[in-house]
Amino acid sequence: MGYAKIRSVALQGVVGQVIVVEADVAPGLPSLVVSGLPDAALTEARDRIRAAVHNSGATWPQQRITVNLLPAHVRKHGSGFDTAMALAVLAAGANLPTSLLVDAVVLGELGLDGTLRPVRGVLPAVLAASRAGAGLVVVPPGNLEEARLVPDVRVRAADCLGRIIGFVHGTESLLDPPPAPPAAQRAPADLADVLGQERGRRAVELAAAGRHHLAMFGPPGAGKTMLAQRLPGILPELTEEESIEVTALHSVAGALPPGGGLIRRAPLQAPHHTASIAALVGGGSGIAKPGAISLAHQGVLFLDECAEFAASALNALREPLEHGEVRLRRVHGETVYPANAQLVLAANPCPCARPGGDAMCQCPPGARIRYRSRLSGPLLDRVDLQVDVVAVRSAALFDTEPAESSATVAARVVRARQAAAHRWAPHARSNGDVPATVLRGRRFRLPRTVLQPLATAMDRGQLSARGLDRTTRVAWTVADLDGRDVPVLDDVYEALEMRSRSGR
Ligand SMILES: [Zn+2]
Repeated sequence: MGYAKIRSVALQGVVGQVIVVEADVAPGLPSLVVSGLPDAALTEARDRIRAAVHNSGATWPQQRITVNLLPAHVRKHGSGFDTAMALAVLAAGANLPTSLLVDAVVLGELGLDGTLRPVRGVLPAVLAASRAGAGLVVVPPGNLEEARLVPDVRVRAADCLGRIIGFVHGTESLLDPPPAPPAAQRAPADLADVLGQERGRRAVELAAAGRHHLAMFGPPGAGKTMLAQRLPGILPELTEEESIEVTALHSVAGALPPGGGLIRRAPLQAPHHTASIAALVGGGSGIAKPGAISLAHQGVLFLDECAEFAASALNALREPLEHGEVRLRRVHGETVYPANAQLVLAANPCPCARPGGDAMCQCPPGARIRYRSRLSGPLLDRVDLQVDVVAVRSAALFDTEPAESSATVAARVVRARQAAAHRWAPHARSNGDVPATVLRGRRFRLPRTVLQPLATAMDRGQLSARGLDRTTRVAWTVADLDGRDVPVLDDVYEALEMRSRSGR
């Protein structure tokens, strides 16, 4: 008979919050009531916990047991509280001492046999524990490496409930194996491998420097995928804060590769065109999982053969791209995941996609127009750079001049980003994010003489008002890359060319 409490962590999206699992054991008919807004998984946990306790050799209190999770207003999902609940029940009803767990946070699902099973989102959970001043975090062995990414907090593993029971009795110790050697990181694909493709290379560099969304149109084999895969390699390295946030998102999705450490490079996500909306923006049953756009947070979301994606799937990406976050509405409330990704679209020029290009096209009349109209929706409207990529001629492959490496281009990108961040502060961090009001405002408005090519294009109906802003943003990026304070006429011409894909 008695009362006890053990701390654990609940996740709200990608943010952890320390919660208290309290248990009260009182005389009465044997029963277990769990309260504190538990979801279905938590209710199911009751039988699992009881079995795990029995199979750990401990005695389940045959009395009236009440388990409550605090604070009540925090939504609690999943099975990560199993171990804390079992310990609280044993402490309240079976004299389990808790002095060694007073400042501890306990994470982990319980198997029926009493083993601790790994849970998703351990990185944000341990971060929350650390911020709350926990002196010890106990995790399942499968989560130990990830938990150790958080500095300055003592992390130990327990393979089973019996080990924690032994630990608090002073007869067993928790596990602290030496860290595994870091897995060899595969070097990102290098731009030096892309021969020829001046225009495509330039488009990728501009996209990186200005954080512009990019669309590439061209026949199969023109190198669109190669170029897209090399964009993350020329983006600036993530800051410490971004790195933790990105790693936490992958952790919550259960998509963190073992031994990879913190994700420090901009991630690349390339979902297949058959991917469901849930796979793209997040969702699924139980805990809403982050989708590809959140896993591409601070990195690149690459949609190859984007015309093949369902219109509903492309539409679902619009709002997250606009706001930099995904809001997943569920019965019990809303889960928010960051989703500030850079979009790269690639498409064939027409459905038949003959390698020879337009001359070899065998599409029936109308098919090409229908195909393009599927692309020219509101999503493409947000894409600053829209370029045609043509197949490389053999001559380019024999060029004696070696192509520039990603490192060389990345250095230019960093300088351009710094110039832009300095200029637009506090309104934006890159040219791609500058609000139209700031772009056209008195301070940064470009002179009429410089904008003249855009005015002409507008008069001819080749450029919309929105397109004019997008082209102006790209002109700033051209200037930043070349180290000019303000775009000149040539910069505007180049920016215009980077939107002039044929057939539009
Ligand atoms: Zn065709």
